Amino acid sequence: MSVLVYTESEEGKIKKIALEVVAYAKGIADQMGTTVTAVSINANDISELGKYGASKILQVSNDKLSNFNAEAYADVIAQAAKSEDAKVIIVSSSANSKFLAPALAVNLEAGYVPNVTALPESTSPFKVKSNVFTNKAFASTEIKTDVKIIGLGKNSYGLKENETSAANEAFAPNLDAHDFDMEIVSVDKATDKVTIADAEIVVSAGRGLKGPENWGMIEDLAKTLGAATACSKPVSDMGWRPHSEHVGQTGKPVASNLYIAIGISGAIQHLAGINASKVKVVINNDPEAPFFKAADYGIVGDAFEIVPKLTEKLKEF
Ligand code: FAD
Repeated sequence: MSVLVYTESEEGKIKKIALEVVAYAKGIADQMGTTVTAVSINANDISELGKYGASKILQVSNDKLSNFNAEAYADVIAQAAKSEDAKVIIVSSSANSKFLAPALAVNLEAGYVPNVTALPESTSPFKVKSNVFTNKAFASTEIKTDVKIIGLGKNSYGLKENETSAANEAFAPNLDAHDFDMEIVSVDKATDKVTIADAEIVVSAGRGLKGPENWGMIEDLAKTLGAATACSKPVSDMGWRPHSEHVGQTGKPVASNLYIAIGISGAIQHLAGINASKVKVVINNDPEAPFFKAADYGIVGDAFEIVPKLTEKLKEF
């Protein structure tokens, strides 16, 4: 009986969140006295999975699975779980995994808890802690089904290395016509920019920027840092920035390593979406701006002076 993880990849490359999921699975496997088996679908380079604690890697290689398909991927993982007799399955909390996990839960009649933040409080009974109400509260949930599925919240466990010698094995699932009742036939990327969901660093700006014409300096800072750009709600409501960048209670949640907030007051609805980010830096010309109370580092001053200077300095590195 092993702990099974689904290791997401993009264009053949294992994603960083998948490595965190493997590290977390190793933590659970140690609690349960078992090992970690990873399932990778059409990934070219799986060499890093052993570094984070996978003992076995089931490699699926199938052209029909070249585009993400929740039903088909869930079927593959369910078959792998059955062949490994896995009772605990870990996925990330990415948009794709949030699609996939419910289908997997139905397939295996398993209980599923998303946004889990830590190792189980106990494995018998099996109790996990997760973020709920857009990260405003924690829930402790007991999963009573035989098979249990956990969706690990991004950046909640960290990339803990645990070098393990991993055995690779080809795995050929039996795909059924119903797996492809709905199928993505092509994907055209809307942008090559880093997305908020995948970003390690997010540069976000608010109404303090006065107008959309001033976003050049935000884009420049983001590009220098390899960051995604984001904004407050009024900024997207006014059409200064696309809605896809709106962060907060009614927008996207951000769980980056670094969140830089520029000209954003720090209203509770904005903070609700970013409090899972690790380090928060605030630039605001009002020393009383509420955001400073939630900040790890704060700069009181005019964004129009500070941001270009910061970017210039960062470009030297
Ligand atoms: P403002 O509140 O206008 O703040 C602008 C800030 O810029 C000020 O702090 C000011 O000091 C600073 N500033 C001005 N000039 C400069 C300068 N030159 N240099 C540096 N700083 C400067 N908001 C969200 O963001 N996300 C949500 O998901 C969200 N959901 C909501 C849901 C509900 C039900 C409601 C009622 C509200 C929601 N809001 C949300 C809106 C939220 O309450 C705030 O109104 C909003 O976050 C404020 O946006 P802002 O900080 O960009 O603008």
